[in-house]
Amino acid sequence: MRLAILSDIHANLVALDAVLAAIGSVDGIRVLGDIVGYGPEPDGVVDRLDGLGATGVLGNHDQVAVGRLGPELFNRDARTAIEWTRDRIAPATREWLAALPERLVEGTFTLVHGSPRDPTWEYILDDHAATENLEAFDTPHCLFGHTHLPAAFRSTVAGMIGGEPADGDRVTLDGRRALLNPGSVGQPRDGNAAAGWALLDTDSATVTWRRTDYDIAATQRAMMLAGLPPRLIVRLSIGV
Ligand code: ZN
Repeated sequence: MRLAILSDIHANLVALDAVLAAIGSVDGIRVLGDIVGYGPEPDGVVDRLDGLGATGVLGNHDQVAVGRLGPELFNRDARTAIEWTRDRIAPATREWLAALPERLVEGTFTLVHGSPRDPTWEYILDDHAATENLEAFDTPHCLFGHTHLPAAFRSTVAGMIGGEPADGDRVTLDGRRALLNPGSVGQPRDGNAAAGWALLDTDSATVTWRRTDYDIAATQRAMMLAGLPPRLIVRLSIGV
């Protein structure tokens, strides 16, 4: 089975559509949260995912968008954007998001947004955080997002050791524990502005990281028209 793993789409429909074109035919799509927030087309993104039968987990932005959390913990620009989102999304978008769980277990994988021990807020940015989270999930492997950085942490005798997979890099899964982040479709932050995602092939037990160029200016124009914060618009060009 081939599954596309998408995280932090952040209402960037132009990026999502470019990624979907690059993915081609797969057996399913799994999303790791932050489907909305920051970007200009929350309804369009949810409608697209719904139409493709995608499923997955909620992120912190999604939880604010559906009214489950308040926006107080967000920085100013993120808060402006999520309040804009919360006040505008269609009832069907809200319902679709609100039906997603915070944690999903599927085969040998646990899916979360932030981390297994704190799916909403924790960022797994280093070996230490990855090691500490091993106790918090029962499956061999975990798929997570939230940092907007592609990452592959794998178990070694010295604990969890992380790498930063580039376009085309592939990891073969074996008995070792692993925490894997596909990067961000809609707002990459690793200095590469191209949309990040991953392909999981359960037959060959491989995960392949990919980057896909999209029409960044088109998303930026839509953000400008929506009156979203300038800093959020500019950062898409440089991938930070
Ligand atoms: Zn995010």
